[in-house]
Amino acid sequence: MDSLWTAAGAGRCQTDLALCAYASRLLGSDPALVLHGGGNTSIKCDAPEGRVLHVKGTGSDLARVRERDFTPLQLDGVLQVLRHDGLDNDGMRRRLESCVVRRPAPAPSIETLLHAGLPYRCVAHTHADAVLAAMNVDEIDAVHAEVYGDVAPLVPYHHSGHALARACMATFAAQRGAHTIGLILAFHGVVAFADDARTAYERMLQLVTRAENYLKTRNAWTLASAAPAPSVGSARALRPLRAAIDATAGAPMRMRVISDAQCLAFARRTDLADITQQGPATPQHAVYTKRVPLLTRDVTGYAAAYRGYLDKYLGATASARIDAAPRILLDPQFGLCAFGKTARSAQIAARMYRHDIDIISRASAHGRYRAAPPAAMAQAEYEYGGFAKADA
Ligand SMILES: [Zn+2]
Repeated sequence: MDSLWTAAGAGRCQTDLALCAYASRLLGSDPALVLHGGGNTSIKCDAPEGRVLHVKGTGSDLARVRERDFTPLQLDGVLQVLRHDGLDNDGMRRRLESCVVRRPAPAPSIETLLHAGLPYRCVAHTHADAVLAAMNVDEIDAVHAEVYGDVAPLVPYHHSGHALARACMATFAAQRGAHTIGLILAFHGVVAFADDARTAYERMLQLVTRAENYLKTRNAWTLASAAPAPSVGSARALRPLRAAIDATAGAPMRMRVISDAQCLAFARRTDLADITQQGPATPQHAVYTKRVPLLTRDVTGYAAAYRGYLDKYLGATASARIDAAPRILLDPQFGLCAFGKTARSAQIAARMYRHDIDIISRASAHGRYRAAPPAAMAQAEYEYGGFAKADA
């Protein structure tokens, strides 16, 4: 990947925070690195209040992020939260709110502790497609050793927040080497760090390029397209299915269809029922795509199975807050059909699963595709989807 950093772009930045925001927008400008709401960045600065950590707050996209979209937090206070044993994410959020040094400010990112704990001024985190395509396989340990080694040690999967931050610190402390520039978060994404924004940005590109090169050497980069010639069905044929999805969701659902050659080729794969049942490439996607797509027209059967999954991993009370209607249909005639309660959520689901198709295809070309475990997906769907707030 080529750096998009320019002297002119950087020259318009008056502060280190502005440079961090500039680097963030460069990362956010490439959908192969960052999709809707994914990823976050930070910088640590000296201020009259002491050492201040500015982390991209919740509710903004990296592609358009400005200085005001970063949450300023007292670093020492945040590090105390990180050191606090046995904290759940609700407790973490309450404590982080008290570390905010200026308001108005966006709510602190769920990954604030991860940014705080790494001893570098700038930290960048993405769910880069190529890294997920290289790492999301059963053979993750061997592939990681070949692609990254101690350049970016591998952190086992943990739920975002306190648990993931603590795991990152443990891995970093135990495995950092002279060449370490980042961390690989298993079945989640990648972190790059440095003491200035440009280097952190360019190290992220280096880590992603390593994954791209690995996929190319394994003949896992070029995607199958239009294996059989595309023949797109008529939307009228989907009316009964849409009525069933509306009834299951309890709301009229908007639909977004992508029938490009890769989607059609993917939806016509003979191993579709195997490779799509692991879940999306990073748990954040499950908020919009759900864990698994619908592969038939049997919405009732899908909803019953999905309810069973939510009940099993969340318990009946939490499960009842989430509808069990599919958000993704993979169909040999239509390719990718995404559903959402608003046009925007249908669009986001379509974009995310479109990337999942590329990732799953590439991962399946060099190994056996694997995603975060079902319990983690359910927890992500519940907490990142905002359903956990009803507990407060
Ligand atoms: Zn993440």
